[in-house]
Amino acid sequence: MSSTPATETEYLPQGPSNVLVINAGSSSLKFTMYAMRGETIRAKGIVERIGLADPCLVYERFDGKKLKEKVSVRNHDEALRVICDRLVDPAVGVLANLGEVEAIGHRVVHGGEKFRDSVRITDEVKRIIQEMATLAPLHNPPNLGGIEACAHVFGDIPNVAVFDTAFHQSMQPSSYLYAIPYEYYEKFGVRKYGFHGTSHKFVAQATAAYLRKPMARLKLITCHLGNGCSIAAIDRGKVIDTSMGMTPLNGLVMGTRCGDIDPAVVLYLVRQGMSADEVDRMLNKRSGLLGVAGIGSGDMRDIIAAAESENDQAKRALFMFFHRLVSYIGAYETILDGADAVVFTGGIGENSAYVRERVVSRLGCLGCFLDKAANEAAVGRQAVISTAESILKAVVMPTNEELMIARETVRLLSPAA
Ligand code: ADP
Repeated sequence: MSSTPATETEYLPQGPSNVLVINAGSSSLKFTMYAMRGETIRAKGIVERIGLADPCLVYERFDGKKLKEKVSVRNHDEALRVICDRLVDPAVGVLANLGEVEAIGHRVVHGGEKFRDSVRITDEVKRIIQEMATLAPLHNPPNLGGIEACAHVFGDIPNVAVFDTAFHQSMQPSSYLYAIPYEYYEKFGVRKYGFHGTSHKFVAQATAAYLRKPMARLKLITCHLGNGCSIAAIDRGKVIDTSMGMTPLNGLVMGTRCGDIDPAVVLYLVRQGMSADEVDRMLNKRSGLLGVAGIGSGDMRDIIAAAESENDQAKRALFMFFHRLVSYIGAYETILDGADAVVFTGGIGENSAYVRERVVSRLGCLGCFLDKAANEAAVGRQAVISTAESILKAVVMPTNEELMIARETVRLLSPAA
């Protein structure tokens, strides 16, 4: 097991070295223990089904030693204690004691307009994260649960919040406002925030390092294609536009989310008798590839397999996925006035040569031509997959949100920061 040190530019030697990264969801607590000198993972894992039946811990040490065990945990505090027991366990642990953990970085989904950057956590920061729960009711409360658990278990060590929304806060009003009366922005914060920002930032930095070009001279279109999908136009390190909106529902066709849709569809369905919650569930959980293909899965591998077995609905779902993605790439190429590279990341972007071929083969009008052999060979690793004469490069770049959170934690806590 190793991390992907795609760029070494971020590490500042005076910062903390032993950094714990925490990603707390509603019923899970994911952790990665980093040694930042060398950016290596010492241990990682997850407690799943917190507060539900049969919670379990999956724990993996740097040398591949793994364990999966049933645990008895009812909340994030108890889950973190179970993780910490293993981190200091003489048989499988990597720490002599918990005092070796110097800092903790937390993934927080929504930082609204208040947080344009990562931030050291204080009581005031926690209060604002809680306030932002109105915009991310499913995510910010468990994120805060992870932060509180760390305060209980680790006491007074520095904690840093890294927001999915922060990297996108460089957008101008022309990108982030919706064309509705301004008062809805002022009163309710109705605007585009964008998500997956930690991933877009990581792959932008990693692509700059890989192409050996300073970020200050690079225009990128980054495509994060996982279960959730989003795309960002990045001009010299600043996001100009991105496809997710006030919530992650907007934009590209995703595993179970519809992406762009006429808002009048929602009104129409409510007037037909569906409740707001029913429409919400349908658009978030039963749409996208899952809804269109109708094969009981929104997993891209299943959709491709069904399409290859001549399932027409699965083929239609794929066409919609490609059509939407190519439309966005064209639009972002225009607003960037010509990008240097379109970058593929996320489970689909990193692993599916098929999806990349179907997308890049439609970018000839932008001067981007596929190198088929390079594309086939690029599975889960960084590569240029366009031909040498391409004006717009196509690049595969594995993302690493945990490492980005660890780097942000070091950056914020370094004396030079
Ligand atoms: P998440 O958004 O949950 O982090 P991932 O980034 O892991 O998800 O991406 C999951 C998606 O990646 C799934 O749709 C899965 O089918 C897809 N995927 C993973 N490997 C491949 C592959 N070899 N070919 C096509 N799709 C793949």
